[in-house]
Amino acid sequence: MELRFRNTLTGEIEPFEPIEEGKVGLYHCGPTVYARPHIGNHRAFLFADLLRRVLEYAGFEVTQVMNLTDVGHLTDDADEGEDKLEKRARREKIDPWDLVEKVSESFFTDLASLAVMPAHHYPRATGHIPEMLEMVCALIEKGNAYQVGEDVYFHVPSFAKYGRLSGNKVDNLEAGARLEVNPDKKHPSDFALWKSDPDHLMKWESQFGPHGFPGWHIECSAMSRKYLGDRFDIHTGGEDNIFPHHECEIAQTEALIEKSWVSTWMHTRFLQVDGGKMSKSVGNVWTLDDVQERGFSPLDFRFFVLRTHYRGAMNFTWEALKGAAEARRNLADFKGRLEASAHGAVNEGVCARIDEARELFQAALAEDLNASAALAVLFDLRSDFLQGDLKTAEEASAALSFLLEVDGVFGFLGPDEGIISLSDEEVESLIAEREEARQSKNFQRADELRASLMEAGIVLEDVAEGIRWHRI
Ligand code: AMP
Ligand code: ZN
Repeated sequence: MELRFRNTLTGEIEPFEPIEEGKVGLYHCGPTVYARPHIGNHRAFLFADLLRRVLEYAGFEVTQVMNLTDVGHLTDDADEGEDKLEKRARREKIDPWDLVEKVSESFFTDLASLAVMPAHHYPRATGHIPEMLEMVCALIEKGNAYQVGEDVYFHVPSFAKYGRLSGNKVDNLEAGARLEVNPDKKHPSDFALWKSDPDHLMKWESQFGPHGFPGWHIECSAMSRKYLGDRFDIHTGGEDNIFPHHECEIAQTEALIEKSWVSTWMHTRFLQVDGGKMSKSVGNVWTLDDVQERGFSPLDFRFFVLRTHYRGAMNFTWEALKGAAEARRNLADFKGRLEASAHGAVNEGVCARIDEARELFQAALAEDLNASAALAVLFDLRSDFLQGDLKTAEEASAALSFLLEVDGVFGFLGPDEGIISLSDEEVESLIAEREEARQSKNFQRADELRASLMEAGIVLEDVAEGIRWHRI
């Protein structure tokens, strides 16, 4: 598979070429653990999971890192405002460290119920303060950062390529009236690498003073560097991460390493709710608990997300989730029916229809993760099957093994899913096939068919007149 990804840095869909042959380093901006992730956040995490699975399917050895932001993410996403985590801890009079534990646990529970493959590393910002301070000091030494009192700022005009990712060049930013000039800064777009605040609940002693904490951007630069090295292949996040977060990450890291840092930047679009922004004040922030309370499986939500391209507009409504749940059930049903008729090992090349489907599936995924087109291949196969194709045991085996291959990438079927709702005609036809197998003394096949029928809730009775059956 020749993978091509859309790189936010160039705005183009480009062939993917790893830095080291056969290996890929992936970094995703994870949750700020001040509140349980909502389903919008999960769109971003599911995108990360799809990317990792597709890379593995294409044969790469992947190292995936997703951080947990447990300090330093301020309410305005830059260096003004309150720390999101501390704000909540103060309001609810709880210990910020307890809040981190509680929210992180719910994050991991959510990921497991969404069948997200665990990343190789989940670094927490508070566990990597020395690595951040090391970078901050190195940037001061290089002349890209400066200390004012106990704070340290990155000097944006010292990095000529600033704005390459987001288009927010220094000149445009200067012209933007939005920036209130902080007298401590040499330039209005300079951003904090390290801040001091005696009232901050989570704080560390450093060479800059007794009570400091890191800026949000330096966290991801330091943590990705620790686990993936100076340069790595793909960095992702939601579209809101492009600016200022990723633009600032690039500036401080490339200023330090003096070469280009991440090859490919990929961003998923926001999940919207009822056509608008998901926001707590509107009361439309849904979590996976809400999804389950309304009778859906988290896998229905996973399937809902996968059906749309990661860069496509996605609007969440309960009606749309219902549609996704039905479509997913149809595929589970397809799996069940294939299981009922599959028999024997799959020999490659035995079924041209499946080989063709596989080619289409891979081509769709390879072109910037076109998951919806890739899934359409499976739905086409199901239609063919329902119209009478792929009915021999060998064809059904090939189709089943392809379906499992697809699910290895999409992960939308639970381990026990393959609900079979056979029609009366299908039951009769499987019973007839079993009779034939028995007559030709192929008892193994006859037993397999009986077992498949049982799984579908069909009980067979051998009576004087032949076979009688009923549903349980
Ligand atoms: P946060 O917890 O705010 O740091 O966000 C964690 C991740 O979720 C980031 O990569 C965000 O870009 C992403 N994100 C936040 N809201 C949404 C949304 N509505 N749709 C998709 N991704 C989102
Ligand atoms: Zn980040």
